[in-house]
Amino acid sequence: MNIQSLLGLPDVLTVKKVVAVQPHPDDIEVNIAGTLLQLHRTGCEIVFVTVTDGRAGAWGDVQDADEIVRIRETERIEAGKLLGVHKHITLGFPDGGEYAVSDVTAKLVAVFREEKPDLVFSVDPWMPYEAHPDHVKVGQAVSQAVLFANNAILHPVVSAAPFQVPQIAFYATSYPNRFVELTEEDFQHKLNAILTHRSQFDNEMWPFIQQYFAVAAKEAYQVVHKDDSVSSEGYAEPLKVLSHLQLHSIPSTLYS
Ligand SMILES: [Zn+2]
Repeated sequence: MNIQSLLGLPDVLTVKKVVAVQPHPDDIEVNIAGTLLQLHRTGCEIVFVTVTDGRAGAWGDVQDADEIVRIRETERIEAGKLLGVHKHITLGFPDGGEYAVSDVTAKLVAVFREEKPDLVFSVDPWMPYEAHPDHVKVGQAVSQAVLFANNAILHPVVSAAPFQVPQIAFYATSYPNRFVELTEEDFQHKLNAILTHRSQFDNEMWPFIQQYFAVAAKEAYQVVHKDDSVSSEGYAEPLKVLSHLQLHSIPSTLYS
């Protein structure tokens, strides 16, 4: 059963406004830059929400956490320009630090009510072996905010009225159900957007990391095309797209 079709929800590439939430300043580029490039070309409005300040992203000689935050802010804005981002929202939680999921959820409920997106992108907090607390906590907070943005009892109305987010698309997921295909040009553009985060990627590991991204994107493409009569190569970004109804008490969501 496809609940999205029953609800008449649009495909991820035909929505008009998205809010893309990331734990750290580079997660969006790494996982969904190609998808956002395609959405931008359709005229879709794109809002970035960056939950933590990225202060733990230390590489090389930079040891001053506040300087890392400043560098990563510049990189984030530069990367956003490459992807056609309309607006940046930062929540300023400490990268790798102590904060509660409920605090992030409350901030995101306000964002979703203000922005009224057709679809929200989030890191998947249920990816097995994900050890980074920011990814787990932020993914949980986004999911709970999608579930409760329309609930005025749990989250009393302060400014914007309750709003139902129709869909969520998880990236960095082990259970994809939608593969967004990328052209060679878009994949190269994605790599450029990732490399905009020079503090994280412009180092001796980049040749290996670049190769990993290419292999992973080619493997994702083959999931869809493995049975093609004529073999072909391409790139894809895996997503787990769910309606808001699938975020609570539906065991088959795992297999959706
Ligand atoms: Zn991250």
